[in-house]
Amino acid sequence: MKKQMTELKNKKILIWLGVFISLSLGIIYKLSSDSTKITETVEENKVENKTTINNEEENNEQVEFKKLSILTNKCRGCGRCTRIDPEHFEMNRETGKAMVISSTNLKSESLALAIQSCPDSAISLE
Ligand code: SF4
Repeated sequence: MKKQMTELKNKKILIWLGVFISLSLGIIYKLSSDSTKITETVEENKVENKTTINNEEENNEQVEFKKLSILTNKCRGCGRCTRIDPEHFEMNRETGKAMVISSTNLKSESLALAIQSCPDSAISLE
């Protein structure tokens, strides 16, 4: 009788041990799958950031390739652009029309204002 009681106790202990191990494995699996998801999210963010940076670089390249020019057949030679933005424009004494003297800093506010202010829409930035 005593031996049967001991065997029953051992069986109970084994059952509880099995339950404990199963729960532990379940928790470990859940934690590892969550950390995998976090890693995947971080990787996705890295890819998105790289894509954004690449797009910005492409946009910058587009700006770099823009060409500033005067459409001389439209320019009346008023000189307004040279007064507003002397960094980019100068009057050509021979032709009496504006000419481009610099193609850098194409994002400047004064250039944008000069383009807007030209009465003949003779400044091209494409
Ligand atoms: S503002 Fe326009 S029209 Fe006047 S000089 Fe400049 S380009 Fe020519």
